[in-house]
Amino acid sequence: ENVAPGDDSATPKSVNEPGDQAALVRLTGVNKHFGALHVLRDINLTVTAGEVVVVIGPSGSGKSTLCRTINRLETIDAGTIELDGRPLPEEGKALANLRSDVGMVFQSFNLFAHKTVLENVTLGPIKVRKARKADAEQQALALLERVGVATQKDKYPAQLSGGQQQRVAIARALAMKPKVMLFDEPTSALDPEMINEVLDVMTSLAKEGMTMVVVTHEMGFARRAADRVVFMADGQIVEQAPPSTFFTSPSSDRARDFLSKIL
Ligand code: ADP
Ligand code: MG
Repeated sequence: ENVAPGDDSATPKSVNEPGDQAALVRLTGVNKHFGALHVLRDINLTVTAGEVVVVIGPSGSGKSTLCRTINRLETIDAGTIELDGRPLPEEGKALANLRSDVGMVFQSFNLFAHKTVLENVTLGPIKVRKARKADAEQQALALLERVGVATQKDKYPAQLSGGQQQRVAIARALAMKPKVMLFDEPTSALDPEMINEVLDVMTSLAKEGMTMVVVTHEMGFARRAADRVVFMADGQIVEQAPPSTFFTSPSSDRARDFLSKIL
């Protein structure tokens, strides 16, 4: 991360340097407790524009909490989180805007049950982005087409399979034109035959240049789509490396142990 003293060559500077425009999400010295439990410990993490970061680690290591701090579903006790160079807003309209800049897809398909698929996707753009209904619908249809569920547009979430619901959830997040997408175990609650239809959508998003932070146990996805794997244990980032390095020669005992159990 540190440029050697006296190195004034024209090489691209480190993405971790302050002021670098390409750093879209930056966590610095982030700490978080739940009561006595120290759930995030001195987290330093930078995600650059267009990067796909896959977060893996044992259950309870703080992966979900990490995701939730990035769109301020959780507050932090110490440290800073910046999106596009600005600290996360505390409240009000700025916070609502932040939430739409940071798309989030959860394990549970949390669509609005009493709204149709199309309404689920148009609601945010109309309410938060102040889009015209006709424009929002046109955009929503294009997004539903892209994730392969356009024919389901007038159905209610309960009438869809889990895989279809999760693809609608992705379309709904994309409708807000987010700067970054967070996925927290998006396929963990799916029947096995539906996992790939969701991973395929995520893989195309990654290829199209979307900035993504993905918590997943799908190591195939990590290998093919991640630019970087971040391994967490006990609230800490234990190591991070490109997938080719991480999966073949992890540097920590914790990661080796974890991989031996899941691969
Ligand atoms: P992971 O997603 O890696 O499984 P989590 O971020 O969900 O881990 O949880 C990390 C730790 O924090 C776990 O021990 C969990 O029980 C605890 N935890 C998570 N959310 C809360 C909460 N709202 N209140 C208290 N403890 C929590
Ligand atoms: Mg979790």
